[in-house]
Amino acid sequence: MKIDYMSKDKYCSEYMRYLGLAKTERRSYAESVRLLKAKGFKEISTFKVLKAGDKVYRGYEDRTIMAAVIGKKKISEVGLKVVGGHTDAPRLDLKPKPLYEKGAHVYFDCHIYGGIKKYQWLTLPLALYGTVVKKDGTKVQVAIGDEPGDPVFMISDILPHLGYDQAKGKRDEFFPAEDLDVIAWSTPKKVSGEKVKGEKEEKDDSPKADKNALVAYLKKTYKIDEEDLLSAELEIVPAGLPRELGLDRELITGYGHDDRVCSFAGLKALINASDQVLDQTASILMCDKEEIGSMGSTGMQSSFFENTVAELIERQEKNARDIMVRRALEKSSMLSADVTAAIDPHFPDVDSTGNGAHLHKGVAASKYTGGTSKGGSSDCGPEFVAQIRDIMAKGDVKWQMAELGKMEKGGGGTIAQYMSRFGMKVLDMGTPMWNMHAPWEIVSKEDCYQTYRCYSAYLRA
Ligand code: MN
Ligand code: MN
Repeated sequence: MKIDYMSKDKYCSEYMRYLGLAKTERRSYAESVRLLKAKGFKEISTFKVLKAGDKVYRGYEDRTIMAAVIGKKKISEVGLKVVGGHTDAPRLDLKPKPLYEKGAHVYFDCHIYGGIKKYQWLTLPLALYGTVVKKDGTKVQVAIGDEPGDPVFMISDILPHLGYDQAKGKRDEFFPAEDLDVIAWSTPKKVSGEKVKGEKEEKDDSPKADKNALVAYLKKTYKIDEEDLLSAELEIVPAGLPRELGLDRELITGYGHDDRVCSFAGLKALINASDQVLDQTASILMCDKEEIGSMGSTGMQSSFFENTVAELIERQEKNARDIMVRRALEKSSMLSADVTAAIDPHFPDVDSTGNGAHLHKGVAASKYTGGTSKGGSSDCGPEFVAQIRDIMAKGDVKWQMAELGKMEKGGGGTIAQYMSRFGMKVLDMGTPMWNMHAPWEIVSKEDCYQTYRCYSAYLRA
């Protein structure tokens, strides 16, 4: 089948636009729903019956989404194809009681989300995004730091001249996690000039922090009280939009490529495939909480995926039964759409000789993740790898087989292991990258584009 892929330039500029908007999983969700609806996808509860060609999606808690184009053959008979990625990314979350005063300043107290190198987050302009939910259920959206004229936030660091003690520490020691807090308000408390009679002269006259002024600002600007922050999901992320990198503009740097680069590729692949009626139902997952172990009701260890497949089958069968869901899952297959490490010539020590991914060599397949022992990986069987090789060849996709670094140097995991529990065939296949989990990650345009072609070819095969 000849596939009408969109052009590389168009694809990459659409991706950069999306990446700039989707700074959190909720924002990614909202933009994905908007793009799906624009292409005629409808929420699943609007369908009584699903037939070939129907475009459907099901969201959960504004953070996780599954979308599908219904195929000619029933899901209970042939299963479905899934491209599954995640849209959460490493960051700093505001703690439930985030406001505290230190010196003359008010800070947002932060908690690390996902695996970061702490030092990379110091002295960078940072943005604040999120949702505050009031007791009556009203949601207040916060987005500060990316619009022209917006203020930003920052974590300060000590000057090198006085950083001798700091420099002696190991990477993880030299800056305590509890100090990864951003400056939120710096105007000191106003003090009245009048001296109280009999007051001692040596009174501390250093400037004092003014938390009340910040609380008043929140009240005035967002109509929220300090107590409302108890029920909030507020995220500190790097400020700034994705940029082309290098004079040839062949790389893209931006926050959250992991894993919006694969999630968006899946979304575009499904949207572009939805004009055709396919044999097998094609679907995508854009899930949450991968960076903290796929936990929670919106993570891939939840029942969301199974429940959604059950909802689809229930709309295709007169007498839907649970066993149909189980059989369908066993007949299904998936590309676990997540990024992998590319070899960085400055760090040859972690390169798995001949088995590492390279930038510009296309989308990277990983038969297994895990560490030295493949621990925690689902280790895809060669039969499914062979099928994918065939699909990639027929779809004219540039791809490479790779593993994540040398043994005994570390390791990683994706959602593949959770999905393969259903008996599905699952292969990790995603964009190779540099700077993974850094505030600004790096991918190559060619690899982004080949990732999109890969998912397109797979969903239509
Ligand atoms: Mn990832
Ligand atoms: Mn990650």
